[in-house]
Amino acid sequence: MLYRVEGIVIRSMDYGENNKIVTLLTKTNGKAGVLIRGAKKVKSRHSSLAQPFTYGEYQYFRGTTGLGTLNHGEIIESHHDLRSQLDLSAYASYAAELTDRTIQDDEPTGFHFEQLKACFAAMKDGKDAQIVSHLFEMRILDLSGYAPELDECVNCGNRVGPFRLSAYAGGIFCTRCTSRDSAALPISEGVHKLLRLFRGMDMRRLGSIALKDETKAELKLCMRALMDTQLGIVLKSRNFLDQLDKLV
Ligand SMILES: [Zn+2]
Repeated sequence: MLYRVEGIVIRSMDYGENNKIVTLLTKTNGKAGVLIRGAKKVKSRHSSLAQPFTYGEYQYFRGTTGLGTLNHGEIIESHHDLRSQLDLSAYASYAAELTDRTIQDDEPTGFHFEQLKACFAAMKDGKDAQIVSHLFEMRILDLSGYAPELDECVNCGNRVGPFRLSAYAGGIFCTRCTSRDSAALPISEGVHKLLRLFRGMDMRRLGSIALKDETKAELKLCMRALMDTQLGIVLKSRNFLDQLDKLV
C-alpha cells in the first residue's frame, strides 16, 4: 500500500553501505519506520529527507506490517538550525527520543505530532530551549496519562499553600501532609504557577517566556523528578544535555 503522510524524523540510523532507516512521527498514521535507499550518499536527493528533525511529506510503500520503503519525499522544514547548533541539537534530540520512547507504533498521533512540530518550531524561533523542553515534557507526561495534580493537595484537597511537589505521588502536598513523602521538593509560588500554566498549555500557544536562572533551575528540578519517577525511562540524549549544562 502506498502511504503519503506528513512526518517528522525522530530517529535516523545507518543501514548497510548506502541506506538509512528513519522513524517518522506521522500526522495521521502513528509512528512509521521507513527505509530510505541511497540516503547516505551525499549527492542523493533523498539524503536530506533522512536527517534528524526534518519535517516533510513522505510517500512510501508498505505491506500490512513492517518497514516502509520511501518512494518520494518533499521537505517542508529542514530544521537545519536544530542540527547545526550544539545546544539546540541537544534539546531537539531529547524531544525526539522522548517522543520515540513514549509513543507506541499504532497509536493515533495527530496531537503528538502537532506538539512536536510546535516544539521544534519554538526552538528554531529562538525561544528558550530549556523552557520549551520543559513544556514538552509536561505534554508527554499528560499524553502518557501521568500529568501531575497541581491544583490541590493530593492527600487532603487543601488549596492553600505553601506546597511541596511529590514526584512519587504525582502532585502537590500541603504543609499538613508533606510528611507522606520525605523527598517532596519545596516549590516557590512562582514555579507552582508556572507548572500549573504548563499543565494546561498547548505547545502551539507558547509565547516568549523569560525566566530568572534560579526559577529555571527550580523548574528543571521539578520536571526531572516528575519525569524520572512517573515515566522512569533512561534516555541517551539526556546525558548529552547534562554534559552540555556543565560546559555553559
Ligand atoms: Zn494536604
